[in-house]
Amino acid sequence: MEAKRVHDEATLLALADRHLLGNYRPARMVLERGQGCEVFDTEGRRYLDFCAGVAVCALGHAHPELTRAIATQAGTLMQTSNYFFNRQNVLLAAELCEATGFDRAFFCNSGAEATEAMLKIARRHAYKGDPSGARHRIIAFHKAFHGRTMGALAMTGNPAYLEGFGPHVTGIAHVPYGDLEAVRGAMGPDVAAIIVEPVQGEGGVNVPPPDFLPALRQMCDAHGALLLIDEIQVGMGRTGTFLGSEHSGVRADAISLAKGLGGGFPIGAMLVREHLADSLPPGSHGSTFGGNPLASVAARTVLRVIREQDLMGRARALGERLSAGLQSIAAKHPRHCTGERGLGLLRALTLAEGVLSRDLLSPARDVGLLLTAAGPSALRFTPPLTVSEAEIDEAVAKTDSMFSGLP
Ligand SMILES: *Cc1c(COP(=O)(O)O)cnc(C)c1O
Repeated sequence: MEAKRVHDEATLLALADRHLLGNYRPARMVLERGQGCEVFDTEGRRYLDFCAGVAVCALGHAHPELTRAIATQAGTLMQTSNYFFNRQNVLLAAELCEATGFDRAFFCNSGAEATEAMLKIARRHAYKGDPSGARHRIIAFHKAFHGRTMGALAMTGNPAYLEGFGPHVTGIAHVPYGDLEAVRGAMGPDVAAIIVEPVQGEGGVNVPPPDFLPALRQMCDAHGALLLIDEIQVGMGRTGTFLGSEHSGVRADAISLAKGLGGGFPIGAMLVREHLADSLPPGSHGSTFGGNPLASVAARTVLRVIREQDLMGRARALGERLSAGLQSIAAKHPRHCTGERGLGLLRALTLAEGVLSRDLLSPARDVGLLLTAAGPSALRFTPPLTVSEAEIDEAVAKTDSMFSGLP
């Protein structure tokens, strides 16, 4: 006989209200389990998950190979520290370099830490060339998102995220995304690096003009600055190529990966080209958990499944299907939507003036669809890369019924 369920939704929500810090604005539901693109809450309600842990669960929920790999590794070796090599991590480094054309990997546990690593290697690399510290400035972009630690925060281009946390890390200049003239104006011999997202994720799924990244590459080369590309949201196949920057044929000096990298298991990475191999000398940076075998085996499994199941090809094809579906929604509901944008399986429905993305998340849940906001006026769709045609169509139908039910 099944034991009485003491921890029902109401009990859990009451505990959450009392004991969790109020820094989030979570929905009034408690997720309990998932399978593929579906998740279920404690009351047994089913949702189609087009949030996917915010573009994290690349293989969907409870993927059998990922589950098995993690379980096996947990019973073998979980954590070693970086005083020693471990097999899974060494192999992951080699496989990531092979997949991306980069040469060296540093591992951490989250996106913000990968951003920190890029910031630190940029400053330390400049210092190696000129210990006066004269070259230290970083150029970042309005509406950029790079994470929430103090360093990553300073590079974030959203004033709301910065409010009340000053004094901030200094030496960061912000210019409008996609505006090459503004970048040119901010460039100079004191610039250590430009940090940029190939598509701004949190900032609204903003796709830059095609000449933007190539021009940044040129400017960096001309001024002896590094190009740091934040691939945390767009990398790992989400846009239909392994890296988002591949769409414009640009190679960064360093990139960051996290989100999809572990398929739900926390892991972040910075990959750099050979000329930066010695820019963070022994003792200058590190992470206790970084590169642990458990996270590494998760990432190796994600890499393998992406390759074996052609998830990048699927992201392109299903991204087109989702794009077409969202365009039809925008055409049908002009009072609420203006259009659609994105690349591969990172897509957004853009909203009409006065319609706030945040206000649509609850109506979407009511029709059984989990979405996220990307900025105030875009509704973001980031399903697992394993999503099926039928699930794309179901998400579009649910979105349609959500708008039809709005006043
Ligand atoms: C999510 C995200 C981050 C931060 O990652 P965390 O794991 O939350 O620290 C940084 N940059 C981009 C582009 C992101 O989408």
